Amino acid sequence: MKTVVILSAIFTTDTALLKFGALCSGNPGNSRRSCDRYGCGKYGARRSNNRTHKGLDIICSDGTTVYAPFDATLNGHSRPYGNGNKIDDGIGLSGQGLCVKLFYVKPDKITGRVKKGNKIGILLPMQKVYPGITSHVHVQMCDRSDPTKYF
Ligand code: ZN
Repeated sequence: MKTVVILSAIFTTDTALLKFGALCSGNPGNSRRSCDRYGCGKYGARRSNNRTHKGLDIICSDGTTVYAPFDATLNGHSRPYGNGNKIDDGIGLSGQGLCVKLFYVKPDKITGRVKKGNKIGILLPMQKVYPGITSHVHVQMCDRSDPTKYF
């Protein structure tokens, strides 16, 4: 019984310590999108037709390099809309007990393993679809829980 308790404590501590690395080359501190005419970037923000924002938006300019936020296996394309528009692409990553989707990213590759900080793609042209928006990477947990604690 004592062993079980100790292992549990170690696991909890390890999970709590995981922090994402910089997602975008122009934003080393992972600054978040606040609000613009299209809405706000925080988790749970309101969207049109009674929907809520199920991710956290990290500022990133169109065409800028996107990095792996943690050591991960790539899980293929992850598309926010499925409508094939200019920004309808992204990449899934899993590892270290996490499963994450990054939207609005053109991936360099969609399989294999990456290390935290490796280039994984570039930001798609958000301004062409949402003129004036704060261009960003949308970070969403696969279970739609709040990713904010990892930043
Ligand atoms: Zn978003």
